[in-house]
Amino acid sequence: MFKKGLKTIGIILLLLIAILLFNTLTYKSKQLETEPISPIDLNNDCAQHLSEAVQIKTVSYEDSSKFDATSRLQFISFLRKTYPLSDSLLKKKIINGYSLLYKWEGKNASLKPLILMGHMDVVPAESEGSKKWDFRPFSGEINNGFVYGRGTMDDKVNVIGILEATELLLKENFKPERTIYFAFGHDEELGGRNGAKKIAEYLQSQSVEAEFILDEGLVITKGIVPGIKPNAGLIGISEKGYLSVELSVETEGGHSSMPAKETPIGILSSAIATLEKHPMTAHISEPVQHFLDYVGPEMPFFSKLAFANQWLLKSVIIGKYEKSNSGNASVRTTTAPTIFKSGFKDNVLPAFASATINFRILPDETSDDVVAHIEKVVNDARVKIKKTAFGNEATAVSDINSEGFKQIEKTTKQIFKNTLVAPALMVGATDEKHYTKISKNLFRFLPVIADSDDLKRIHGLNEKIAIDNFKDIIRFYRQLMLNSCK
Ligand SMILES: [Zn+2]
Repeated sequence: MFKKGLKTIGIILLLLIAILLFNTLTYKSKQLETEPISPIDLNNDCAQHLSEAVQIKTVSYEDSSKFDATSRLQFISFLRKTYPLSDSLLKKKIINGYSLLYKWEGKNASLKPLILMGHMDVVPAESEGSKKWDFRPFSGEINNGFVYGRGTMDDKVNVIGILEATELLLKENFKPERTIYFAFGHDEELGGRNGAKKIAEYLQSQSVEAEFILDEGLVITKGIVPGIKPNAGLIGISEKGYLSVELSVETEGGHSSMPAKETPIGILSSAIATLEKHPMTAHISEPVQHFLDYVGPEMPFFSKLAFANQWLLKSVIIGKYEKSNSGNASVRTTTAPTIFKSGFKDNVLPAFASATINFRILPDETSDDVVAHIEKVVNDARVKIKKTAFGNEATAVSDINSEGFKQIEKTTKQIFKNTLVAPALMVGATDEKHYTKISKNLFRFLPVIADSDDLKRIHGLNEKIAIDNFKDIIRFYRQLMLNSCK
C-alpha cells in the first residue's frame, strides 16, 4: 500500500516535471524579427543645440511666485531660431502663453494623426553651486562624448531630438501622409495642468483623434530587468493612478504634564504604521502580465521555467518583484507617507495632527478602492480620511496589437541593435495622462539608454547623455515618422 502511494506520487511528480519542461521548451519569444538599419550620418551640431537648450533655465518651481516667464519665451524663440525649416514650414501655435503645438499637415486627411510629445521645463538642480556637480547643471557642458546638465535626460533631449529629426526630414523634402503634431508642454514637472492639459483641450476642441501618441516615459534599460542581459526598451502602455489622502486626528489637546493615554500624534502614527504594514495586495495587472510575457522567453533556463509556468509559479514571481522598491511598485498600489504635521511647542499637547499619504494606483484598482482599503485597515473612527486634490485614476491599458505599439517596437529594433522590446507599466506620471480623450493608444517611451546609476541622475545630480545615444534618439524619431507616416 505504502509502496503504491509512493509510486503514485512519483508518477505525479514526473508528470509535473514533464509539464513544466514542455511549457518552458515551447515558450516562444515575442521579439519582433527586424534587421537593424544602417545609421544615417549626423554631425555634432545636435549636441551643441542640446547644450544651448540646457542653458536656458526653464525651471518649474513648486512655489508659483517663482515662475519665470522670460526663460519660457526665450526657449520658444531658441527653438524658432535653431529649427528654421520647422518654424517656417509647419503650423505653430502657442497655447496658454508658454506651451507649443506644431502641426505638420499630412497628405492624406483620412489618416488619423500622430502626436509626439515632450516637455520644455525641468526640475530645479539641488545644490546647484556645489562640488557635487561635475559641471554646473545649467552650463550644458560638452565633455568626453557627453552633454551634461538639467534636461539632457528629462526632457529637453526629447524636444530637441524630435525637432532635429524633423529638420532632417524637411531637408530631405519628406511630406508625411499622416498629419503629425508635436506637443511641448511647459509645466510637466508641476503636473502639466497649464501646459499639456490645455494643449489636449485645444486638440479636443478641434476634434483631433490621434492614431497614437508617444510621450517620454520608460527608457532602454541596461542591466536593470532581472535575468535579462541585453538592453531592454520598455514601452509604457499604462500609467499608474495618483492619489494623495490626508489623514487627521483631532482631540482636546491639553498640558503635556498630564497627557491623555492617547494623543493625536500617537493615534495618527499608529494608523500610518498599520497602513505601511498592510499595503494593498500584490498582483499582476494587465500591463505587467504583458511585460512578463515579453521578457520571460528571453530569460535563462530556471527563470524562464518560472515565467513559462505562471499557472503554478506566479506567486514566486510576485514575491521576487516585491523585494525591490521598483519591482514592488510594479506589482501593487504603493503607500507612501510624505507629509506629517503636528505640534508647535514642547510642553503643549497638540489638539491636531495630520499626515498626507501618496498612493500610486495599479490600472485595475481605483482611488475608491484605496479609500476603502484605508478605512478597513485603519479601522479607527478618530482618524478622518480625506482625498486631496489633483489625483487621477490610472490610464487605460493601450493595445499592444495597435499600429502605434508595432511602429514603436519596430523602430526601436531598427535603430538599437541587440535590444529587446517589452511593454510595461509606467509607475511615474507623465503629461500624457491629459490626453486620454485624444487617443486610446498612448505610449510612454524615450530611447535614452540608462543603467541604474543613470536613472538616479534624472531629477538628481550629474544628469547627462552620451552624444552617441542622443544621435540614436534623433534617428529613432526620424525613422518612427518615416515608418508611421509614409
Ligand atoms: Zn519628464
